[in-house]
Amino acid sequence: MKTIGMLGGMSWHSTALYYELINEGIQQRLGGLHSAKIIMASIDFAEIETLQRHGDWNNAGKILAEHALTLQQSGADFILICTNTMHISAPIIQQLISIPVLHIADTTATTILQQGFTTTGLLGTRFTMQMDYYKSRLQQQGLNVLVPDEDDCNRINDVIFEELCFGKIISNSRQDYLDIIDKLSRQGAQCVIEGCTEITLLVKQSDTKIKLFDTTAIHAQAAVDFALE
Ligand code: GLU
Repeated sequence: MKTIGMLGGMSWHSTALYYELINEGIQQRLGGLHSAKIIMASIDFAEIETLQRHGDWNNAGKILAEHALTLQQSGADFILICTNTMHISAPIIQQLISIPVLHIADTTATTILQQGFTTTGLLGTRFTMQMDYYKSRLQQQGLNVLVPDEDDCNRINDVIFEELCFGKIISNSRQDYLDIIDKLSRQGAQCVIEGCTEITLLVKQSDTKIKLFDTTAIHAQAAVDFALE
C-alpha cells in the first residue's frame, strides 16, 4: 500500500472528512484492521486565506510546495491537496517534488464522464468558479461547465468562508444553494459539481433530484484506489 501525503487544514472540517473516508475506503478494500498509511501536513488556513484574498497565489503556492516536499522526504508516495481551490498551486507544488499530485479536477471529470454526463454546473469558492485553473482542466477532459451568475457566486462563496469553514450548517444557506443548483439545471446542467470540499457538509444528494458530484468523496476514493494500485 502506498503512503498518502495529505495537505490538509483548508479547512480542517473537510480534512477530517477526508481522513475518515480514506480510512473507511482502505478498510473496506483490505478488511480486518487495515487502515490508510497517511502522513499529513495540516496548514494554518488563516495564513492561506489571507494570501488568497490578496491574490498572492505565488506565496500561497510556495507554502504548500514546501509542505509537500517535507511529506515526500518523510516517505509519502503521492500528494493529495485536500481542497479544490488550492489546486491553483498544483503546478508550483509539482515543480518542487518528484512524487505525483493526484489532481481533484481530473478525478472528478473522470467520474462524471464515466457516468455519461457531458454538461455540469460548478459550485465552489469564487476562485474555483471564476478563475480558469479548474474549469479549463474539466473542459480539457471534454466537459461543458456552467457557473452561477455574479450574485450567486458571491452567495456561494460567502457561505463557504463565513459558515462552512467554521463548521456552521445553516438551513437558509442550504436552500439558497438548492435554488442556485435548480437555476443551473434550468440552464442545461445535467449534474452539479460540489467543487469545494466543505459543500458536502451542507448539501447532500438526498436534498435534490439533480445528480451531485461530491469532490471530497471522489478525491478520497481516488486516493484509496491509487494507494492500492
Ligand atoms: N476547501 C475549499 C475548497 O475546496 C475552500 C477553502 C480554500 O479556499 O482552500 O476549495
